[in-house]
Amino acid sequence: MDLAAVLNDVATAIEPQRGSGKVADYIPALAEVDPNGFGMSVVTVSGECFAVGQADHPFSLQSVTKVMSLTLALEILGDPFWERSGREPSGDPFNSLVQLEHENGIPRNPLINAGALVSTDVLVSRHGRDGAVEAILKFATELADGEPVRIDSRVAASERETGFRNAALANFIRSFGNLHNPPEDVLHVYFHQCALEMSCKGLSRAMLYLANRGRDPVTGRQVVSERRARRINAIMMTCGHYDASGDFAFHVGLPGKSGVGGGIIAIAPGQLSVAVWAPGLSPQGNSLVGTLALEKFTSLTGLSVF
Ligand code: GLN
Repeated sequence: MDLAAVLNDVATAIEPQRGSGKVADYIPALAEVDPNGFGMSVVTVSGECFAVGQADHPFSLQSVTKVMSLTLALEILGDPFWERSGREPSGDPFNSLVQLEHENGIPRNPLINAGALVSTDVLVSRHGRDGAVEAILKFATELADGEPVRIDSRVAASERETGFRNAALANFIRSFGNLHNPPEDVLHVYFHQCALEMSCKGLSRAMLYLANRGRDPVTGRQVVSERRARRINAIMMTCGHYDASGDFAFHVGLPGKSGVGGGIIAIAPGQLSVAVWAPGLSPQGNSLVGTLALEKFTSLTGLSVF
């Protein structure tokens, strides 16, 4: 399969839609992003890389990092993590509070904000507040294998200034005893994690282990067990796009995780990882053109898990 040609075809196909969707505007650093931005990058399990558009352009990972914090939390707690988080799609927006009260502070899944706060809490218990930020940054940096990774402190500060709903979530979960650390410490880490910045090239490289049974095929590092990689992919498939997860499975057919910075990572198990960035969002907060690009990609390659 000529993946370079496929990516060019994808870029041509999305051209008429480029710039559509609504760029996140809840903080200045995201509102200033060029709505016409587009990049896409693929890394195969044999280590080959292909890219099109602005694949080197760094963007704010936002909720894409929920996969990283979940991975680290599972490595710390193992299966008992699932006593503190469900693994069902929520059918509600990413920052919704409503289910939490009925479900006694146990978030539906770790890829909505409530569940990500629980993952982050596990990291704070293990590493302390500043150590948890470092642990996430170190994990992403090691996985990116030389591609740049940084935390944008301006984004982190704005997340804090505007993060009233996340603060409500953290305090509410804490009231049920499902955060073990002070909500302000967990929020500090969560806001810094959201502010992690990488390019499509870096992101597709970093998440390659999920396409290769938990082992980074280039460095040989077993990042997580095969079983855990399978399960993380299952959660990305069912929960990675919030209340549009079903739609993403329907159109794209790959485990994926989106963020309001316009990035999406998707995994074709046994084959490749693919990252796309296009900042205009759907009403559910997922990259509109990014999703179209991935749909075109899986149509052209036949790489869907179905
Ligand atoms: N910083 C955003 C928030 O916590 C991230 C949400 C997202 O990417 N969906 O609200």
